[in-house]
Amino acid sequence: MLVQQPDPWGFDEAPVETWADILRPQYVDLALLAAFIVLAMISFRRKSVPLKFVTFAFAIGYMGFAKSYLISITNIFSVLDWNWPVFKYSLAWYLFFGFTVVSTILWGRLYCGRICAYGALTQTLDSMLPAKWRVDVPRSIEKRAALVKFGVLAGVITYYLVTHNLLIYQYTEPFWMFSLLGTPMMWTVLAILLAVTLFVRNAYCRFLCPVGATLGLLSYATVFRIKRWSECTTCRICQKACQWGAIEGPKILMTECVRCDDCERLYADKEICPHWRIIEYNERKLRVLPLQPVR
Ligand code: SF4
Ligand code: SF4
Repeated sequence: MLVQQPDPWGFDEAPVETWADILRPQYVDLALLAAFIVLAMISFRRKSVPLKFVTFAFAIGYMGFAKSYLISITNIFSVLDWNWPVFKYSLAWYLFFGFTVVSTILWGRLYCGRICAYGALTQTLDSMLPAKWRVDVPRSIEKRAALVKFGVLAGVITYYLVTHNLLIYQYTEPFWMFSLLGTPMMWTVLAILLAVTLFVRNAYCRFLCPVGATLGLLSYATVFRIKRWSECTTCRICQKACQWGAIEGPKILMTECVRCDDCERLYADKEICPHWRIIEYNERKLRVLPLQPVR
């Protein structure tokens, strides 16, 4: 007769982990993140300013202070090391990261224009400050300053590849502020950065952020680009309106554009955009002077 031996390794008792067990602690995170992404997409598709500010409030409060969900240079280091979190325990992170990459390929730096908590904070600040405080950086300086972020990206990646010191992130990005964990020196640098932002719109995002630079490079692959009219070459109303220095005559600079909608709302405005006025003028001319039949 076969006698059942006690299981010395305890395999018999080992509980089997089901997907329900895996998902249970992640449901709330996943649901809130999905809701935020839907809100961001609706505000983007509708080009709605009030919805954009609701998205910013969610980005600052939930993505920033509550969860500290921000794409960081450390995520770029992980990609370089091919070091990924375990999929089944990090579903919200994969949703967030996947959305950032896919949305950048489809529309450009939508992440910077809607999702990033720091970008949302500075854009909200900017909307509350008196316009007269703003210093408009001359175009020639702005163009050169926009290249600095690519230098920062190259420098940080080189430093990391040589030293494997992750802590370099704290000297190149202020995202730690959402977990309130900085040293006095880091808070001082952040205070200076925010003070500069009071006068120069979105200064860190435009000139210094290595994550923005990475997404800017990825934006070269953007599928759905912003439409331009033939009149854009000479008109330049939207070039002056773009707070990100992303319009140069008829060209949208994909590395700089964050899909903020400002220019797209302008194009659609038949009172402001000369494109529509020219169409209307031509139509009126045709109505007044009907074509003569050819003899
Ligand atoms: S540029 Fe950097 S800080 Fe600014 S919105 Fe993009 S990722 Fe955020
Ligand atoms: S105004 Fe237009 S070009 Fe400039 S950042 Fe916004 S969407 Fe991009």
